[in-house]
Amino acid sequence: MIKVTVYNEYVHELEDAAVAAVYPKGIHGCIADFLGANEDITVKTVTLSTVEELTDELLYDTDVLIWWGHMAHHRVPDEIAERVYNHVMCGMGFIALHSAHFSKPFTRLMGTTCSLCWREGDRERVWNIMPSHPIAQGIGNCFEIPEEEMYGERFDIPTPDELVFLGWFKGGEVFRSGCCWSKGLGRIFYFQPGHESNPTFFIPEVQRIITNAVRWAKPLYRQEKIDCPWTESPEAKL
Ligand code: ZN
Repeated sequence: MIKVTVYNEYVHELEDAAVAAVYPKGIHGCIADFLGANEDITVKTVTLSTVEELTDELLYDTDVLIWWGHMAHHRVPDEIAERVYNHVMCGMGFIALHSAHFSKPFTRLMGTTCSLCWREGDRERVWNIMPSHPIAQGIGNCFEIPEEEMYGERFDIPTPDELVFLGWFKGGEVFRSGCCWSKGLGRIFYFQPGHESNPTFFIPEVQRIITNAVRWAKPLYRQEKIDCPWTESPEAKL
């Protein structure tokens, strides 16, 4: 079994009725539902109000951590972000969705600003530019998202090890929408679609990509944090 933990800050859904109407169980609930329908995947969810549950114990018991956040990145304690960073370096998989580009764990892992340009309310065509990649299996040449937030270049990230999807927007912009990296022993996937007011996580291709990414990011080898030479914080060496 692949053990997945989904972190969603779960603030928009509680504060904005329009977002709650799209995701009545929260974005984390939607992701847990479609991932949990697979026989080889079990899912736990954590939100900002329960973020202290992201302990070493839970992270050791997590093969792949999925992260969605937007307006409350700053409310995630630094020590939890550092803990996530260290577990990725030791082999845990990490999937950052949409506005998680500015989350503390993702910017820590990338080591860059991860800034980009954006505009709400555009149409997106997601191009599969690496059809041989495990994350692209079952996805055609391209698929459409009727309404999605435009994210545009330059996306300030380290050059991805593999670029699987390229997003094109009606406004003319393009974006590196599906990017893979290895950091330490961990595998990282960033996927751009997933604005909170659009039903993007109900789209079959989006669900297939995230499911494929979970299987791709699952660690094949994992090191105990205490022995891992790629962790950096003093806490990790205790
Ligand atoms: Zn957004």
